Amino acid sequence: MMLGFLLARAGVEVVVLEKHKDFLRDFRGDTIHPSTLELMHELGLLDEFLKRPHQELKQLAGQIGGDRIPLADFSHLPTKCKFLAFMPQWDFLDFLAMHGKQYPTFHLLMETEVIDLIEEGVSVVGVKATAAGDQLEIRASLTVGADGRHSIVRERAGLKVEVLGAPIDVLWFRINRNSSDPGQVLGRFSRGKIMVMLDRGDYWQCGFVIAKGTFEALQQRGFEPFHQDILDIAPFLRDRVSELRDWKEIKLLTVAVDRLLTWYRPGLLCIGDASHAMSPVGGVGINLAIQDAVATANLLTAKLSKGSVTPSDLQQVQKRRLLPTRLTQRAQVFIQQRVLGRALGRAQQTSAPWFLRIFKSLPILQRIPAYLVGIGVRPEHIRTVDVFTH
Ligand SMILES: Cc1cc2nc3c(=O)[nH]c(=O)nc-3n(C[C@H](O)[C@H](O)[C@H](O)COP(=O)(O)OP(=O)(O)OC[C@H]3O[C@@H](n4cnc5c(N)ncnc54)[C@H](O)[C@@H]3O)c2cc1C
Repeated sequence: MMLGFLLARAGVEVVVLEKHKDFLRDFRGDTIHPSTLELMHELGLLDEFLKRPHQELKQLAGQIGGDRIPLADFSHLPTKCKFLAFMPQWDFLDFLAMHGKQYPTFHLLMETEVIDLIEEGVSVVGVKATAAGDQLEIRASLTVGADGRHSIVRERAGLKVEVLGAPIDVLWFRINRNSSDPGQVLGRFSRGKIMVMLDRGDYWQCGFVIAKGTFEALQQRGFEPFHQDILDIAPFLRDRVSELRDWKEIKLLTVAVDRLLTWYRPGLLCIGDASHAMSPVGGVGINLAIQDAVATANLLTAKLSKGSVTPSDLQQVQKRRLLPTRLTQRAQVFIQQRVLGRALGRAQQTSAPWFLRIFKSLPILQRIPAYLVGIGVRPEHIRTVDVFTH
């Protein structure tokens, strides 16, 4: 959506296909990073964007047993917004779609699902899709797979994937929130259990971490032990935990960390999770996907305006985005193994590892994770223009 918006704004004809009928679904994560807010500022959209309901977090912390460990302090970032905004992704996507639609070059097709690629020789020249039971073909000088971790585009393109591994999955559900509940922390760890709780006003959006492949066994244990697991982490939910009594209310979000060896083929490029699926660790995958979109627009707009892009143009995008992706995924895999993997299932009370406790004793160090989460490696800036106002 971000790439579609940027290209359309720069005068390139774009068709964005979304298989669902709206964005009102359980997306993975609600974080709008300071770097994304900076991009909104550069686009002149920040004030309007921040009028949408959201929460602003200046500091991220983790609750490990009874210990609150501050992890990231955004208040020193060199950005206009020195906070992480929590906003449901459907609001963010609606906002981008609404602004995209102001350009005659932007075409959004909802409920239109890509089912295959159209190929001519070695080149990809478009996609086949279904919409309301009908099949359609869309031809394009560049097809961009931005269809997430289960990307059909990358699969059909036969691009090779390097799997980096994820020992966890996440159960996603809501529990009512009381105004007297404690404030939001990034994650709660207690007696071998881990849960993320996002404050969405009148409810908590919870992400309960489980070892990969164990959801069925957890369901077989029944609801009562699951309620107890939640209470071990968040005892203040005692009066409400029994609201959860139907497994249909609990969605399994699969976690994957992988990366394409080559992100492109003639006529085709993959970005975001389609080229590098991100773990929820650190809440940075959305940031990387947005940064990929901005880098792609910066590098390809002029060429697309003239007609087509060559594989070496597409290679430039991978070259630009590979380092941030590689470093971020390496950090995620490290934390998955060294923190989450070790903490999961350890019944005895765990204390924070030394490299987390150090953030409490030396608060200045919180600026490092704040930079990595809030801005990331090699941040992008808007280099394309709005041709309709220039
Ligand atoms: C449990 C979990 C929690 C996470 N929490 C966070 C977090 O808090 N913060 C964060 O920054 N990152 C988080 N992440 C990572 C983040 O979700 C991803 O990195 C990010 O969403 C990638 O964005 P994307 O646009 O590439 O893909 P997606 O957000 O997956 O979007 C892909 C889009 O393509 C559409 N689509 C898919 N297939 C087709 C098709 N065939 N035809 C048409 N449309 C299609 C989908 O409907 C969807 O709208 C989390 C990941 C997991 C697993």
